[in-house]
Amino acid sequence: MVTISFLGGCREVGRSAILIESQNGAKCMLDYGIRFRGEERFPFNTNIKNLRAIALTHSHIDHSGALPLLYKNDKIPFFTNSISLAVAEILIRDMIKISNYPYPFGYRELDYLKQNSYFLKNGTRQKISDNFYITFLDAGHIPGSVSILLDVDNKTILYSGDINTQNTNLVYPANSEDIPEIDALIIESTYALKEHPPREKLEKKFVEKVIKITDNGGSVLIPAFGLARSQEALLILEKYNYSGKIFVDGLARKISTLFLEYPEYIKDIKLFRKALKKTQYVTRPKTRAKIKNLSSVIISPSGMLKGGAVIDYIQTILSDPLSAIYLVGYQVEGTPGRNLLEEGIFEYKESRRKNKNFTDLSIVAQCDYDYFDFSSHADKIHLQNYIEKLNFLRNSNRDIFCVHGDNKSTTSLASELVKKEYNSVAPETGEIYQI
Ligand SMILES: [Zn+2]
Ligand SMILES: [Zn+2]
Repeated sequence: MVTISFLGGCREVGRSAILIESQNGAKCMLDYGIRFRGEERFPFNTNIKNLRAIALTHSHIDHSGALPLLYKNDKIPFFTNSISLAVAEILIRDMIKISNYPYPFGYRELDYLKQNSYFLKNGTRQKISDNFYITFLDAGHIPGSVSILLDVDNKTILYSGDINTQNTNLVYPANSEDIPEIDALIIESTYALKEHPPREKLEKKFVEKVIKITDNGGSVLIPAFGLARSQEALLILEKYNYSGKIFVDGLARKISTLFLEYPEYIKDIKLFRKALKKTQYVTRPKTRAKIKNLSSVIISPSGMLKGGAVIDYIQTILSDPLSAIYLVGYQVEGTPGRNLLEEGIFEYKESRRKNKNFTDLSIVAQCDYDYFDFSSHADKIHLQNYIEKLNFLRNSNRDIFCVHGDNKSTTSLASELVKKEYNSVAPETGEIYQI
């Protein structure tokens, strides 16, 4: 009997955390993320006595952000890989630095986490305890992302983490064909209700629009998450031989440089190097004032216009009918990015920013604006295909737990799967299941 406790990422995207416990009480934590909105920032509190290992699917903060909390006193082996650790460190440091919220951990706990880390190669079976093993598998989501296969008390459980089975330019897609037979699946549901547009077509349209704007003397501002999406945008521009000026700012600059140190996790490192060679990094605020009037592409976090370096460019771009803002990631409801797309107005509150000279903004966009869905998650069709290709053991219950998606996405995916004779649920935070 294996016990699965869902501690977060249930009917929500944020604070992903799942605790797996064997019959003799040995425990393994899968992810330990954070949520930014609302009061419940950390995973659900539970007894973590006899925690033998912590394993991370990837560096995104909704999976890694609360990890230092587990390193207050304990020395638990932390299984990850080199790029995920390096990126998680940058993101967690950044989170601690820029937050107004006092985290119950700091750089000291982050150091303990690093000291206890072990790099696990994909496909290598790692013993955690008696009758308890984990194996990392490629997840195709961002560089270094993995799914985790668990063998516990002769039960096999697959935790997908965040997955992408579609071709992107930054990483190879995940493939569920070669995964051994399983008893249970824990799967992400982010886009369980959505279909992404065909990728190639979208890339072409994106580059065509960028060229049109810069050829006419305008600038294209691409607000993008610093990790992965910024680099994907760079690769798309390079793939279609975009020859204009490209500037990269903020966290996107830091992560891009870091990726060069981990070529084995990048699909086409040559293309990436080539793209970066043509890119200019913005390192000083002074440079921002200069380049926003140049005809160029500016890639800068944050991806939903909630803050970051992008705010320094946005006023100039918004008021220029020749320029454009092209959003390349999902825009959560209530964010300035979503408002821009829906209302054509950019609204921003100064209180979110430490710079006291900044005033509240409410600007009607004169520039072009658009959304390009360069997602790094499997959509409705791809999730279905991924699940269909998996083989469940004949004597298993065909359990599928749908997590990492809003209430509607997780519950709809679960009911769809029930129709297909899986034993599927969308667990709620704090719920415990046994298989
Ligand atoms: Zn992710
Ligand atoms: Zn996630």
